[in-house]
Amino acid sequence: MNEVLDRVENYTWNGFRDFVVYKKVYESKGIISLYLKGNDDLGLAEMKPGQFIGIKVKTEDAELKKVVRMYSLSSTPKDDFYRVTIKIVEGGKLTTYLDKNLKEGDLLEVMMPKGNFKLEKEKINRPIVLLGGGIGVTPVYSMLKDIDDSKDTYFIYSLRNKDSECFLEDVRSYKNSNNTKVNIFFTRPLNNEKLGIDYDFQGRISEEWIKNNLPLDGEFFFCGNKGFIDTVKEALENLKVDKDRIHYEFF
Ligand SMILES: Cc1cc2nc3c(=O)[nH]c(=O)nc-3n(C[C@H](O)[C@H](O)[C@H](O)COP(=O)(O)OP(=O)(O)OC[C@H]3O[C@@H](n4cnc5c(N)ncnc54)[C@H](O)[C@@H]3O)c2cc1C
Repeated sequence: MNEVLDRVENYTWNGFRDFVVYKKVYESKGIISLYLKGNDDLGLAEMKPGQFIGIKVKTEDAELKKVVRMYSLSSTPKDDFYRVTIKIVEGGKLTTYLDKNLKEGDLLEVMMPKGNFKLEKEKINRPIVLLGGGIGVTPVYSMLKDIDDSKDTYFIYSLRNKDSECFLEDVRSYKNSNNTKVNIFFTRPLNNEKLGIDYDFQGRISEEWIKNNLPLDGEFFFCGNKGFIDTVKEALENLKVDKDRIHYEFF
């Protein structure tokens, strides 16, 4: 009996499977989170924090039907749902549809979680350093939620300002935890946002800052756009961090 239950709980599938969007939430103006559950009695496939799923919409529109996009999971292995957190892109095919047309209760076609950018915390015996640039925070946020407080963890979140945030309040709440050090960079703070309260640094993360504030013997995971990835990767290489401790995902 248990065997049957286990099989159903860690259900795997090929290609696409129908999922229900049971919740659609605007995290801020241009960012939505979609909460997904299988449209059947079967469980979820296992995921590792950092992995992504492929999504397409169920539609009669022949063009849109072909569009498949990847989204990192912002949920964790403990959750009984998948959550993706998506920035709406101006002129973007899928994100415009998800913003304007998708309703709670609609179905999406979803691929199994996959990807080599993943945290396997049980294999790491050194500080864990997570850096997210903009919407690239999604996979590293999943990693943060998966790590318990006994691990020495650094979380760096770089974003424009509160208008383009997701999970900012929760990330900030980690400042009170014993082993997690949080630093928030706003690249373009709003007039009413205050240094030291709303954010810790103004501007972009730099090699100098990394050198002075992060443990170079740590295991590094970072995600963001090309500029963000290039800056962090180059800095770590210049600072002689071993290549096998540098992990990144580019959106
Ligand atoms: C592994 C992975 C994980 C990802 N995770 C996330 C995530 O967690 N959250 C997230 O928000 N995104 C994520 N992405 C990005 C995501 O997959 C999509 O690329 C993004 O949502 C845009 O999709 P879209 O269909 O709306 O835009 P697209 O239609 O692909 O358009 C993208 C851009 O190209 C422009 N464009 C489109 N067509 C043309 C054209 N003909 N000529 C000129 N310009 C054009 C659009 O204006 C837009 O600026 C991830 C990507 C990868 C690879």
